[in-house]
Amino acid sequence: MAVALLVAAGSGERLGAGRPKAFVVLAGRPMVEWSLDALRAAGIEEIVVAAPPGTVLDGVIVVPGGATRSASVRAALAAAPAGEDVVVHDAARPLVTPEHFRAALHELADADCAIAAAPVTDTVKEAGADRLVTATLDRSRLWAIQTPQAVRRTVLERALDVDDDVLAAATDDAWLVERAGGTVRVVESSPANLKVTTSHDLLIAEHLLADRLSRPPAS
Ligand code: C5P
Repeated sequence: MAVALLVAAGSGERLGAGRPKAFVVLAGRPMVEWSLDALRAAGIEEIVVAAPPGTVLDGVIVVPGGATRSASVRAALAAAPAGEDVVVHDAARPLVTPEHFRAALHELADADCAIAAAPVTDTVKEAGADRLVTATLDRSRLWAIQTPQAVRRTVLERALDVDDDVLAAATDDAWLVERAGGTVRVVESSPANLKVTTSHDLLIAEHLLADRLSRPPAS
């Protein structure tokens, strides 16, 4: 059975909503609740949430988050009940669906880690501090990485067993798995599984969730 680690301890400074991002109300509910719904609909009941100290949520284990995202993942993993496979998700992606979790966990059959990702549609270039372009990347091989990220528990434990400066440099879990020599597979997702960072993202997420609520449930 899979265990979920939901990281929700970020301050959300870039959003400027005056409260932690995961608890900003979105389409009538705190943002974190949308991910909890999708996890439960995927049949995942063992859920650990890393959240700001003092947070109370029903039916899940809550732990105080760390100073960085990966420190929050590590804190949540330390409190997780037994389970061979782990799925990590950012509460800042409220558009996630049960299928995202199922698909990522399914792909663990032949990889150490499986991550939701959308094909990149923009042309991506590298530039120096002087803004002069140094390279244009081959778009056909590029993926924009999201969560959920599913990973074997033993692999994640080993990947997170690093110094705090390495943890702080990690922008996702898969990078830590890659560093530790694990195999990582991308699982195609949609750009709709967006991460809420700015007030513009919040508007789009609100619109998409309101649209979802207005449709009859799939039978
Ligand atoms: O800041 P960013 O949007 O990249 O954070 C991604 C996710 O990690 C968010 O859901 C945020 O709540 C979580 N996070 C955390 N602990 C931190 C920083 C971020 O749980 N110290």
